[in-house]
Amino acid sequence: MTTTARKRLLLVGGGHAHVEVLRAFGQRPLPGLEIVLVEPQARMVYSGMLPGWIAGHYRRTEIEIDLIGLAGYAGARWIRAAAAGLDADAARLTLDDGRTLAYDRLSLNIGAPPRPPAAASHVIAVKPTGPLLAAVDALAHETRAAPVAIVGGGAGGVELALALAHRCRNRPAPPRLALFTRSPALLTDHPQPVRRYLIRALTIAGITVHTGQAVVDTPPGALVTADGRRIAAERVIWAAGAEAPAWLAGSGLRRDDDGFVQVAATLRSSSHETVFAGGDLASTPAGAPRAGVTAVRQGRVLAANLRRSVQGRRLRRFDPPRHALALISTGDRRAVASRGLPIAPAGHWLWRIKDRIDRRFVARYNGLVESRGGPE
Ligand SMILES: Cc1cc2nc3c(=O)[nH]c(=O)nc-3n(C[C@H](O)[C@H](O)[C@H](O)COP(=O)(O)OP(=O)(O)OC[C@H]3O[C@@H](n4cnc5c(N)ncnc54)[C@H](O)[C@@H]3O)c2cc1C
Repeated sequence: MTTTARKRLLLVGGGHAHVEVLRAFGQRPLPGLEIVLVEPQARMVYSGMLPGWIAGHYRRTEIEIDLIGLAGYAGARWIRAAAAGLDADAARLTLDDGRTLAYDRLSLNIGAPPRPPAAASHVIAVKPTGPLLAAVDALAHETRAAPVAIVGGGAGGVELALALAHRCRNRPAPPRLALFTRSPALLTDHPQPVRRYLIRALTIAGITVHTGQAVVDTPPGALVTADGRRIAAERVIWAAGAEAPAWLAGSGLRRDDDGFVQVAATLRSSSHETVFAGGDLASTPAGAPRAGVTAVRQGRVLAANLRRSVQGRRLRRFDPPRHALALISTGDRRAVASRGLPIAPAGHWLWRIKDRIDRRFVARYNGLVESRGGPE
């Protein structure tokens, strides 16, 4: 086994890639490496199961990965804080409580939460997930047929709308759901048969779809579209777009035109050898899609490369599959498969497969924590 003079690896964000990094270092510790996890949340919501929870098919504990327990398994120290600044030349990270941390290696997996046009109490972004889960719980118990808008015409927005419709279907007066997208069509990244299937599901669920309607403002109790229309919306759930955090602007890291951290195929920063990034925040040469499944796949390569980088060994490549399989759920324990082909296999059987895959994913991490006797 290679030993290492005392070095510090900072893992910033307990996202879908870093859970695998923690697992890997827990299974095969690297002597002399101190691991620190900087993350404000004690638990990570697994994105693949979020729509299933919204629809009412899962309990919270079934969709969450215990980050504190996993950090304990990896022998990592958990710092409950958010990163708020980075000086990549000086290798120093600043936290939102003002502390600074030096590092030998830094890995960023903090996601890229969508940013609504303005902060307002009736507008809820899908990330971080805490406020979204609270808003869905509140909606499920409301008694009025209030207008609710979902902004975002990708798979996330469509799944969310369908799941919400399913969750509220038995309310005496269910909410009036409307889905908005700035694109001329929904689900533009998916083949036509998949789009047709999901649009039909939206129609059956009674969800109104507004295509070609960019939402530009959210005054109290409403939203405003680019063509000046004001539409009533007591709640606006924002699932459109991924935005790189503003605090990275002064980091010195090379970023792409949209502010995402530019990495090589090895997931190492193209400007700083000590910095790595994965998940929604990373801008890869292959243009890997921003999805939980990408972050999960990157996790293995990231874990290997962080270890190899500390040991001074050659790094591995992350090559995303040309057509990743997406199983998109429709709220009613059905799912449709999308893989770049002009077909749309769909039904309860696909939901059952998705359910099995997703449960196995969460158990892969929580099982490690349970085998150690729970979090410390
Ligand atoms: C409704 C919905 C359904 C979806 N379904 C799917 C699906 O079925 N399949 C799929 O592949 N994708 C799905 N997605 C997309 C998926 O959620 C994202 O692509 C995925 O979560 C990105 O993972 P990540 O690890 O990059 O970031 P995240 O999962 O967002 O994790 C980031 C972590 O970093 C932490 N963090 C944030 N900022 C800081 C900071 N400054 N300092 C420290 N920590 C920080 C957060 O607390 C969080 O724990 C869905 C999205 C939505 C909205």
